[in-house]
Amino acid sequence: MIDTDIRYPFWKSKPADVEATLDNAKLGKVHTLCKSAGGHTIRYITYGEPVDYNRQANYSSACGAKDTRYYADREGKRPTILLIGATHGQEMEGVAALMNLISLLETGLDLRGKAVPELTDAFIAADCRLVIIPIYNYDGRVRCLPDSMINEPIDFLRYHGQGTWKDGSLCGWPECKKIHPIKDAAGFLGAYYNDDGVNLMHDNFFIPMAEETKALMALCDKEAPECIIGLHGGDNCTSLLLQPAYVPLETKESVFRLASATAAYQEAAGLKSDVHPVSEHIGDPPPSFNLTTALHHICGAVSATYESNEGLSDIPNGFTAEEILMHHYCLFRALFELAWRK
Ligand SMILES: [Zn+2]
Repeated sequence: MIDTDIRYPFWKSKPADVEATLDNAKLGKVHTLCKSAGGHTIRYITYGEPVDYNRQANYSSACGAKDTRYYADREGKRPTILLIGATHGQEMEGVAALMNLISLLETGLDLRGKAVPELTDAFIAADCRLVIIPIYNYDGRVRCLPDSMINEPIDFLRYHGQGTWKDGSLCGWPECKKIHPIKDAAGFLGAYYNDDGVNLMHDNFFIPMAEETKALMALCDKEAPECIIGLHGGDNCTSLLLQPAYVPLETKESVFRLASATAAYQEAAGLKSDVHPVSEHIGDPPPSFNLTTALHHICGAVSATYESNEGLSDIPNGFTAEEILMHHYCLFRALFELAWRK
């Protein structure tokens, strides 16, 4: 295993890289989200001042009053956007992309030393408040020693991601979810989980197990983002936005519009693209009410999971590090340009 950042110097996904980036930020403001289960300090960075959306009620009550403006009156106000990296600690593609985005916002150049005017111009035009959590599942990211999955086999991803059972066999996906929290059933605890074995995508959102969950839900309630993207890795999928479950049709259509705009930029750049249609998720068992859905129901955001290609070596469709970065740039550009009016 050779660190990816030696092969690709623009690829920075290690906790030490993130901490240095946050410590050295001059334009962004750095805040503490909470302590992880393992005692790590989870930080985030914001660009733009917080926006006063004239809160009168929580989101549920505002919906009950038949006017979401009682929760957040966004008309004529700057939009707030939230980007979340590494909800699963081994999914480091988004962390690397966020380090490049922060570099662009701080210096005008990304970690390749290149300007990306179509992206930075879109950010300036959006005139948004941008909130970035580079590493949300800090415990998992610390536990995962590799700095990417690029050129690694899928069993390497499974080991570092979902971990092993007590007999040493790989937990695998989605079987890793059948025991939760998984800590006492695990041999090697994968980076999917915090140190208590909680998969932050599948906390009990009505009675949260993890401080990370409570803190993120409180942040979303306070900030009232119009769009929240959780940046994940999806082995060698063609990077795409998943349709959220249990949200209004209008929100699903907004995700579809963002996905379509992202795909248009990907195709123009000679990259592959994939867009999931709006769907009703009819079936048994039902889809999970996961973090992406929970965050919508706190603040009404267009909330979606982005699955990045991870560049694995032994299954088809592996992207290069630069392709993975470019795919994220297309997403960010589309996000800022649509920013975000439903
Ligand atoms: Zn994930």
